[in-house]
Amino acid sequence: MPGLYVHVPFCRSKCGYCDFYSVPGAGEAAMDRWLSALEAEAGFYTGFRADTLFIGGGTPSVLSPDQLRRLLDLAGSFAAGGSFAEATMEINPGTLDAEKAAAMAAGGLNRASLGMQSDSPGVLGTLRREPGDFRGAFRTLRGAGFANISLDLMTGVPSQAEEEVRSALAAALALRPEHVSVYPLEIHDGTPLGSAGLAEDPDGAETAWRLISAELDKAGYARYEVSNFALPGRECRHNLNYWRGGDYLGLGPAAASHFSGLRYATEPDLEKYCAALEAGRQPPRASLEVLSERQRAGERIMLGLRLKEGIEASDPIFIEFKAGLGELLAAGKLELEEGRVRIPAKDLYVSNSVLSRFV
Ligand code: SF4
Repeated sequence: MPGLYVHVPFCRSKCGYCDFYSVPGAGEAAMDRWLSALEAEAGFYTGFRADTLFIGGGTPSVLSPDQLRRLLDLAGSFAAGGSFAEATMEINPGTLDAEKAAAMAAGGLNRASLGMQSDSPGVLGTLRREPGDFRGAFRTLRGAGFANISLDLMTGVPSQAEEEVRSALAAALALRPEHVSVYPLEIHDGTPLGSAGLAEDPDGAETAWRLISAELDKAGYARYEVSNFALPGRECRHNLNYWRGGDYLGLGPAAASHFSGLRYATEPDLEKYCAALEAGRQPPRASLEVLSERQRAGERIMLGLRLKEGIEASDPIFIEFKAGLGELLAAGKLELEEGRVRIPAKDLYVSNSVLSRFV
């Protein structure tokens, strides 16, 4: 069953490293206009049904309670069987209050992903990210009935000390979230951090990932994807569908969609998005491609090998890549266990050279 993704293109302010599409500081009128355009875009897909929903951005939690209700009404109309098996929304700590959390729960959301990143004011300052009360936001979500919450942590931030990594992890674990994501900082050209000449710290990110990975394992969180850890049964279903090569529909500017080898993305431009839909047209596409069988197989292998479960060895997607697969197995860069092909756990973090064989 496919997933539904909605991209909310607004943030209160822009973080220094961010290259996601979002408009900082927009007012309620711009958000209402986007919601009307989103409703019009949804009208092109009335027959579509999904069993998971992921509302990301941007910062979905900058929407007002009324706007959240409107958004969730719309999203809910796509739920297979009347409700989503999993429905997540991303939250930025400084933008949540009890009324919004109640609107989220009443609107059918059952999972929240909270962008904590770090508990260190110094690290958040380097990232040029607004500090927010992640503990307060977490408690607000629990108070509204959210029993499935994920926290995001960031590693590889220039000058981030090991103590700061340990402290962020301890602060996260003290809340006992159901899921933790750990992402290395990427610095892109054109972002404020890129323009300031800051460099990525891949070695620091790897060291921090190994430390966090070991501690999370001790605390009962299993790593099921390179960057994602969960208590038993709390893996993110929406993202698992994506990593397993499933279909998904993306709504909103900058959202990507994938249907049986057809992949397209909407232009990251709020004005063009709204204007096209107000004129009764589909929003402009930034890309549209039909993937060849080989490309589809290569992509599914690259995504699937990021998962701890790996890929079934008998899957026909390996046919095209048989020679490369054999070489990697013989060299110990891949392992075959219980009929599944995987990257050995110790190598998972540095798996890019293996994955590039399937491009
Ligand atoms: S809150 Fe998220 S989407 Fe918004 S600017 Fe920061 S990193 Fe980007």
